[in-house]
Amino acid sequence: MTNSYSNKTLTPLFVITFLLSFTLASCNGEEQSIEPAEDFVSDFYSNARSLEITVAFEQGAEPYTKYNTFDSWDVCDTNINSLFSSENIPVSVPKTLDEITNLGRLEQNNYTRENIVQLAAALQSNENKGHQKNIVLLFLDGFYIQNGVAENRILGINLDGTPTIAIFKPVIESASNSRTEKALIEQSTIVHEIGHAIGLVNKGVRATTAHHDTANGAHCTNEGS
Ligand SMILES: [Zn+2]
Repeated sequence: MTNSYSNKTLTPLFVITFLLSFTLASCNGEEQSIEPAEDFVSDFYSNARSLEITVAFEQGAEPYTKYNTFDSWDVCDTNINSLFSSENIPVSVPKTLDEITNLGRLEQNNYTRENIVQLAAALQSNENKGHQKNIVLLFLDGFYIQNGVAENRILGINLDGTPTIAIFKPVIESASNSRTEKALIEQSTIVHEIGHAIGLVNKGVRATTAHHDTANGAHCTNEGS
């Protein structure tokens, strides 16, 4: 992925087109959860009238707010809002660090599913049963622990069936030497994982191709590929 575009020639339209195709065509999904998953997607489509993306970061794992001269979060804002424009579901996305929660330094170096569930629970603004929906997006300064192993190639995950997303900042940082590319990889990961959370990436069809940009890290905890 990082070779497929030049940071000098990026335009917002290109980025948006790229991210949309990327979101809809990419990996087959998440870890095979053994615990019964909360079904955020069904609830979402039954009654959603608005969606708020709540963002928090561990100190040291702040999301990028700019790429070149653009606002990074416009990528997420434009993409996710365009997905819902015909359904009349406005999506609110923070744009600056002032609008997101600084969690300070956390105790762990790396994070299990349970750690992430706990962190997200404290930030979830509602139970997502009513018309106002809430997705929690965490930026963590560590790796995802899967089956006891810290995975240094997983950029981000959506916990299966839940409105909880984690982005693993050291993996974003190791994905490119270019600040612009890192910011865009981060945004594309965000859009991708929100796509999972709202059921648009993986509609039960298992991808058979290798995961996208595996050279730089997997987007998902994709055990099947
Ligand atoms: Zn994915």
